[in-house]
Amino acid sequence: MTDAPSRPNQPVYLDNQATTRCDPRVVQAMLPYFSEDYGNPHSAEHVMGQRAEAAVEKARAQVAAAIGAEVREVVFTSGATEANNIAIRGAARFAANMGDPRRRIIAVVTEHKCVLESVADLAAEGFEPVFLPVRPDGLLDPDTLREALTTPTLLVSVMAVNNETGVIQDIAGLAAIAKAAGALFHSDLAQAVGKIAIDLTAWKVDLASISGHKLYGPKGVGALFVRRRPRVRLLPLFSGGGQERGLRSGTLPTPLIVGLGEACRLATAELTADAERIAMLRCGLWDRLRRDIPGIRLNGSETARIAGNLNVTFPRATASELMHAVPDLCVSTGSACSSAEVEPSYVLRALGLSGQQAARTLRIGIGRFTSAADIDYAAAALAAAYAACEAANPDNPTRDT
Ligand SMILES: *Cc1c(COP(=O)(O)O)cnc(C)c1O
Repeated sequence: MTDAPSRPNQPVYLDNQATTRCDPRVVQAMLPYFSEDYGNPHSAEHVMGQRAEAAVEKARAQVAAAIGAEVREVVFTSGATEANNIAIRGAARFAANMGDPRRRIIAVVTEHKCVLESVADLAAEGFEPVFLPVRPDGLLDPDTLREALTTPTLLVSVMAVNNETGVIQDIAGLAAIAKAAGALFHSDLAQAVGKIAIDLTAWKVDLASISGHKLYGPKGVGALFVRRRPRVRLLPLFSGGGQERGLRSGTLPTPLIVGLGEACRLATAELTADAERIAMLRCGLWDRLRRDIPGIRLNGSETARIAGNLNVTFPRATASELMHAVPDLCVSTGSACSSAEVEPSYVLRALGLSGQQAARTLRIGIGRFTSAADIDYAAAALAAAYAACEAANPDNPTRDT
């Protein structure tokens, strides 16, 4: 990327854990497949279909290379939500259909909602969902997992990188524990690809999910890794033409898949350079926030975290006050709006934060397109907004939620 421009982008986008800009190189790679190369990748009997199929298979190889998988282990989906659903429900249902007596499905309380809900929903089919707590630094204690596995378990699901805190779990270590107990191991890699090196062949992971729009690719596409040796069997979620080896029926969206492939290629090629540059920006921002806002605190492990994430709790002002004061800065609050109710983030609560602390928390996500000027702007604007909030609330009258 080029050096810092003198002026920040407008608005300044520091919400790269919510989604990322589609890299212009990815857009370029996709364009022909919207227009001239529009064939159906499943129409192998003519040249237009063959061209689309070749593009899909090239992308499959690029995705496989980025995660250390074999080409045939990659199944395209509409995103990580769908991949997580197929992995968890599909594995549980297949095992039950085969007469497997095990019912326990283990996940961690800080997983993405689509994992938590997939696991929880399986209770209605007679499975036993178990949600493990995390330590205050956001990491799953291996002994907590070992203990949960003393009851025979079908599947364990642990995300590699948390979408709110950026905390990195030891997937290789946790997967080995699950495998030793005979359980399948699934990992949601949506926030990990392009941020940390991933080697699914070396890690004893059976199933893994990725998402295009978290790694500078397009929205609406993702992939599921399904190990072949030993072969992991799943029941598909829906019926149809039997594409993707019967696991995911439906015509593949060639342009989106080409974009996902190119995004994966770039993620691998630029992982080290991106991480170094982003870590420098993060350190600069964190130094300034700490200097200007005494008492500000970082949530989640200081060391086991991706370069681009700062999840910080302010000693006084609420996140929504701060965001209101700096409307051209895109960050995210420590809350989630579900059915119009604002609730403190369950991830932050799991790390031990109170409702009030969660309400004073911002997630700042630095990415490939963040400039040094963006960071300057964010640091100055947040410090000024904080000072103004403090001045407006000298007695610290905050609601405890
Ligand atoms: C974004 C995200 C998802 C959902 O991915 P989609 O492709 O948007 O469905 C799942 N898990 C994590 C950790 C995410 O960050």
